Amino acid sequence: MAKNASVPYKQFVESGNQLVVEDKHNAVDIYCPQPYCCSLIMRAKAGQLVERPKSKLNIASNDTSVTDDTNAEVEAMQQYWHLSMMAFETIAFSIPVVTGLQYLYCTECGTGPLGYQDSAGEAECFIAVDRVGYATGT
Ligand SMILES: [Zn+2]
Repeated sequence: MAKNASVPYKQFVESGNQLVVEDKHNAVDIYCPQPYCCSLIMRAKAGQLVERPKSKLNIASNDTSVTDDTNAEVEAMQQYWHLSMMAFETIAFSIPVVTGLQYLYCTECGTGPLGYQDSAGEAECFIAVDRVGYATGT
């Protein structure tokens, strides 16, 4: 049985108020999204809300049919929790992919990618807000 109950991001109708505290840190502990796993990924206030391109989480593939963006519009952004590698309770890294990114997976069950690490910069990590579960509070 799961040790912790967690709630998917989409169940928060006012995520901006319910999940974010002052200075944009995550309000509650964050877990693996799998109900049977619920491994603790990061503690409350370990991460800070930022926006990054959604495409960062596209697994590199050889499928060229969808990548020809000749009339590219503004790149779609999405929200992530930004934190350092050391701030995680538990996380697994993929091998580096060609673009200098590593994807982040649940250590316990391998669910992912939950986010990515940009190893081109200062090894910054980003967890997609809608790919993880949230502590239900009390
Ligand atoms: Zn898991």
